[in-house]
Amino acid sequence: MVDIVAGFSPLRDEILAGIAEVLDSAQFILGPRGRQLESDVTSRLGVPHAVSCASGTDALLLALRALQVGPGDEVIVPSFTFIATAEAVLYTGATPVFADVDPLTYNMDPASVEALITPKTRVIIPVHLYGQPANMPAIMALAEQHGLEIIEDCAQSFGADINGRMTGSFGRLSAVSFFPSKNLGGAGDGGMVLSQDENLAARLRLLRNHGSSRQYYHDELGYNSRLDEIQAVILNARIRHIDVYNAGRRAAAALYKKHLAELDLVLPFETPGHGHVYHQFTIQVKGRDQVRTALAGAGIASAVYYPVPCHRQRMFGDKPQGHCPVSDALAENVLSLPIFPELQEEQVARIAAVLRASIPA
Ligand SMILES: *Cc1c(COP(=O)(O)O)cnc(C)c1O
Repeated sequence: MVDIVAGFSPLRDEILAGIAEVLDSAQFILGPRGRQLESDVTSRLGVPHAVSCASGTDALLLALRALQVGPGDEVIVPSFTFIATAEAVLYTGATPVFADVDPLTYNMDPASVEALITPKTRVIIPVHLYGQPANMPAIMALAEQHGLEIIEDCAQSFGADINGRMTGSFGRLSAVSFFPSKNLGGAGDGGMVLSQDENLAARLRLLRNHGSSRQYYHDELGYNSRLDEIQAVILNARIRHIDVYNAGRRAAAALYKKHLAELDLVLPFETPGHGHVYHQFTIQVKGRDQVRTALAGAGIASAVYYPVPCHRQRMFGDKPQGHCPVSDALAENVLSLPIFPELQEEQVARIAAVLRASIPA
């Protein structure tokens, strides 16, 4: 799905030299390289504060804990997302309430969100799925009207924007993931919480480090969720090229749109004014599983994100947690094709040829 080696090889020497410096410094966790990354992210995304942590999942959990979300609270999340969005809510003891998604953008449907708001609702977590910004103007209007907080899940959307305003800069808090396959991927796990608020940022710094501001004094129950300096070296090298990477993804998506235009499938929709960063290039196609088999037979990777929407996961037992018919239909029909900045037109043409031959009439 992703040529990770192609992404890293031009930076190899720079990264190895940086790692050698970390080894010589013997400063491995929460050091100057991590702080440099935090400051780079704040200036790129137009957010005043950033607090690094161990993963995108932890970033969501820390954000919820910073807002004092816990048992008895409800948090509205889309059903059609990676499970981490819901897991983070469950870890706090709060209840995830699953909203359905929009059939064009696959992102949280504001009308579905509105219907689920109760007196217990505290937070809405929009996910910018596949790199396309969610409908933030509508979600922010709902949050404002009902006195709710917003935590954006930006795990798939680093660099995406709405009319020039970056995803991650709309919510009171936002979560970023540096998992290797994400748009800004490291060589291991890593994450970051973005904050509009200085007090919340200070609380996040405590929470990620055992609830402690002074060593061996613990103000509250926290976590061990920190970014290490070796990972920060890698991310500092990568982030300087993030605009080039995202431009490469957009160019690859444009090639797909050209080569797949005549086929009987649903191409990704781009909301006007939304800068989509194509974390995934996801089509809907009939005979999806048969098409996948044909692609695999030709040595072409594909993936289904996600085969089971969150509200139907086994972890909740046999009874679906809500009614999300659009998410159910997408789970049956979506197919993600390989996409990464270095994808070449010949590769796209070959994938298109296999699709042309394998889509049932
Ligand atoms: C990857 C992902 C996460 C979790 O990030 P990790 O760094 O893997 O913990 C959360 N939400 C979404 C939508 C994701 O795609």
